[in-house]
Amino acid sequence: MGHVKELWKIVDEGELQVYIYGQNGTYVAEVSSDAGSEEARTNAALIVAAPDLLEACYAAVEVLECNCGGQCEGSCTKGIIAAAITKAKRKAPTVNYESQR
Ligand SMILES: [Zn+2]
Repeated sequence: MGHVKELWKIVDEGELQVYIYGQNGTYVAEVSSDAGSEEARTNAALIVAAPDLLEACYAAVEVLECNCGGQCEGSCTKGIIAAAITKAKRKAPTVNYESQR
């Protein structure tokens, strides 16, 4: 499916931030929280689980039947999961900082 299943892990934990790296030391994300490392760890755990959650969504959408009239506009379980997959596959927008000055 093209994503890095089970490659993300929490590698280092700071006082207020948690670092997430890929298998080969590829930097994935840093999560920080003014509320403390407990909240940062909770958020980091969700990020680390994201590839597995995406894989689970692919499996679920394969077997679920649409029961919202065939249009799947997000009102049935299959539509909700399909929308989550679409959101996960969307790339973050590229921001041109030069043009904003
Ligand atoms: Zn549907």
